[in-house]
Amino acid sequence: MRVALFGTKAYDRDFFEAANARHRHRLTFFEPRLDHATVALAEGQDAICVFVNDCVDETVLETLRAQGVRLVALRCAGYNNVDLAAAERLGIAIVRVPAYSPEAIAEFTIGLMLALDRRIHRAWARVRENNFALDGLIGRTLAARTAGVVGTGRIGALVARTLRLGFGCEVLAHDIAADPDLEAIGVRYVPREQLLAEADVVTLHCPLTPDTHHLIDAEAIGNAPPRVMIVNTSRGALIDTTSLIEGLKSGRIGGVALDVYEQEADLFFEDLSNQVIQDDVFQRLLTFPNVLITGHQAFLTEESLSVIAETTLESISDAEAGRPLSNRVTLAATRPG
Ligand code: NAD
Repeated sequence: MRVALFGTKAYDRDFFEAANARHRHRLTFFEPRLDHATVALAEGQDAICVFVNDCVDETVLETLRAQGVRLVALRCAGYNNVDLAAAERLGIAIVRVPAYSPEAIAEFTIGLMLALDRRIHRAWARVRENNFALDGLIGRTLAARTAGVVGTGRIGALVARTLRLGFGCEVLAHDIAADPDLEAIGVRYVPREQLLAEADVVTLHCPLTPDTHHLIDAEAIGNAPPRVMIVNTSRGALIDTTSLIEGLKSGRIGGVALDVYEQEADLFFEDLSNQVIQDDVFQRLLTFPNVLITGHQAFLTEESLSVIAETTLESISDAEAGRPLSNRVTLAATRPG
């Protein structure tokens, strides 16, 4: 198949070309993301491949359809950037990579949690300046704290297990379906409001849906235990950033670690070090000593990139051969119940 890959970096190219030795599709790599302006680049392609911040809305899908594209392959797990109803109406199949090393994201989440709590990022910067003072670097032992895991799917379950068995935390969880294996090790499922009111450390691992949009808002922050720590490696819009900033300013929130941000599409994955950032909300977040931000890199391991490339190309080969698409995303499958 002729496949255009949008928003690609050198590492995408390396891993996709290596995996394509077996599949032999005709791959064209584009640096720009897919959006209303760049969709024209898909002319003459059979399939396109996109990532988390590409725009796959109704207008883009209609253009893709008119250009003859029949398959959109997401090289990620989340699909909140795709208008599934429009895709189904237009007969464009959507496939994704449902799991590509949940360990990568779970391990990164724990890393962020520890770095934030023990101020490792600040200590590193100080030591580089020959400043070995410890003032302001006091952490709080995780073992003595209650952790709350929202969403206990592939990633959340690993995080909950690590917090429970590795650190000995009391672990509260919330999900639309409980995981009996987690319950067996003492993880307690509670309503979302209770989790947010009782957990000292909240970590988000649910998908972004209308129900989870801004699940961390002013009310949740107001009801949270004092100095709550919030970690988000899932999707930026799970958190209302304006309320987060208010919570940080008031001291209600003890620390925030983010690998995702609501408006990240304008910032992440690019080197903007020579530009003036126009997002004042993001810039304000960066001013807090107790905020640690990374640019959507939790997935970035060799293992993940290999699995992402292999699974994506396998789906494209299945589509070409007319085989069932095991990683297809359908509207019906995303409806609860
Ligand atoms: P998953 O589908 O295995 O798990 C998601 C869990 O959330 C499921 O158990 C589901 O039942 C639960 N859930 C759904 N709606 C919920 C709700 N309203 N309240 C509570 N729980 C709810 O997904 P996963 O592989 O564990 O990935 C989790 C999220 O992590 C993805 O949605 C994606 O947005 C994000 N992610 C981020 C990165 C990164 O690099 N930062 C990489 C991969 C995935």
